[in-house]
Amino acid sequence: MIPYGRQDITQADIDAVTKVLQSDFLTQGPKVPEFEAALAAQVGAQFGVAVNSATSALHIACMALDLGPGDRLWTTPVTFVASANCGRYCGAEVDFVDIDPNTYNLSVSALAAKLETAAQTHTLPKVLVVVHLSGQPCEMQAIRNLTAEYGIAIIEDASHAVGGRYQDEPIGNSRYSDITVFSFHPVKIITSAEGGMALTNDEQLAERMRLARSHGITRDPEQMTQTPDGDWYYQQLSLGYNYRMTELQAALGLSQLQRLQAFVAARHRVAAHYNEQLADLPIRLPWQHPDSYSGYHLYIIRLETDKLTKSHAQVFSELRAKGIGVNLHYIPVHTQPYYQQRGFKPDQFPQAMAYYREAISIPMFASLTESEQQQVIATLREVLT
Ligand SMILES: *Cc1c(COP(=O)(O)O)cnc(C)c1O
Repeated sequence: MIPYGRQDITQADIDAVTKVLQSDFLTQGPKVPEFEAALAAQVGAQFGVAVNSATSALHIACMALDLGPGDRLWTTPVTFVASANCGRYCGAEVDFVDIDPNTYNLSVSALAAKLETAAQTHTLPKVLVVVHLSGQPCEMQAIRNLTAEYGIAIIEDASHAVGGRYQDEPIGNSRYSDITVFSFHPVKIITSAEGGMALTNDEQLAERMRLARSHGITRDPEQMTQTPDGDWYYQQLSLGYNYRMTELQAALGLSQLQRLQAFVAARHRVAAHYNEQLADLPIRLPWQHPDSYSGYHLYIIRLETDKLTKSHAQVFSELRAKGIGVNLHYIPVHTQPYYQQRGFKPDQFPQAMAYYREAISIPMFASLTESEQQQVIATLREVLT
């Protein structure tokens, strides 16, 4: 089976991790700050806070933005559940904004309409989590313009988009947001096995996120409420978690980061090949907004079901049966039983539901060989014609 995504591990990655295993620090050593500084520099952010997953990064980002009970968080229904769950962790209510039918990202016009209504009913969100689906950035400038007048904070869930660009600047510089989050899960663009990072240009947000990832504990005398009792002294200032990244993970992430541009370039070559070879099939290829240079975490096709005799589920299962490890990103979050219990109805977000009935992610990763790409193309042709 050709998977939809997989990691690319070299001897240099293995050596970097082995070196850490033989060093003094398996956790809380020099590699985590080194990884934070290197990625922040690469994407043009001031501060990076590395954690054990993007899910944790989203949680500490919401905590830093002071999201709590009585507040609201909005996001897109077409995302991994973590983009919404971070709001629930903080006791906030979660709501969704329907997607754009071309980019599959949160729709700017739907956002404008929902904000207008919410302003009248005093139900505006405190935090908006935008998701750069498949690696294609959202229309950040327009989104920031819409939300700024209400003082709504923006988190970019850029789990799919490290190495991508928006308006020719790197995703992660948070030009139009408060915090950007990356994931280093093995299917994503670079990996640290598990891991994530929150980046920001706001020193206070960075400091709050550092506290939240490690029990709310500080060893910095300047942050303490009294002079230290002695050299052993630390203080817990708030309620935090143990969300720390290990040195092994940071070393792997750092090593992978050196190949980030090459990974994204390879993904673009795969995309260009697919674009060319799949153009005549009864499917919609991933449309790209002119402001965007995608990270291409995913290559999503949409079936033109009116031109097909087979159902979406049938096409999907035939592809899997023939060795193509397709996937579906994502089941709209508001249809999950947990969110249904919170009162959402499937037809509340019709564009997300239309997308869900047609979308399929086909194999896309940097080390996908020419012959594997041919196999994907030939199998799609066989199943769809
Ligand atoms: C993968 C992913 C996450 C969660 O990342 P983890 O590092 O696995 O916690 C969150 N949001 C999106 C959009 C993702 O794709």
